[in-house]
Amino acid sequence: MARDRVAHASPVTVCTYAPPGTYGHECGKPATVVAVKTSDTESGIYYAGRCKDHAHAPGHDNAGIIRLEPINGQVNMLLPCGWQRPESVA
Ligand SMILES: [Zn+2]
Repeated sequence: MARDRVAHASPVTVCTYAPPGTYGHECGKPATVVAVKTSDTESGIYYAGRCKDHAHAPGHDNAGIIRLEPINGQVNMLLPCGWQRPESVA
């Protein structure tokens, strides 16, 4: 249902950790683990790739991580700009 709301799918392949002081400059190394955060994606969670150097970096881009998972084909189903989760689901 509601597949038309999905803007695009984004598979997790690289580390998207941006070290403090390097705003917008993500690491880009191949991800070795997937960090899971809550988010306003269709599934309510967001997968972020992390390399071995950044998987356990404290705070900053790793704030809010609820768990780490092995890489297993995780794909973020990103929603169009402006879409808001229905209140009944929030
Ligand atoms: Zn990294």
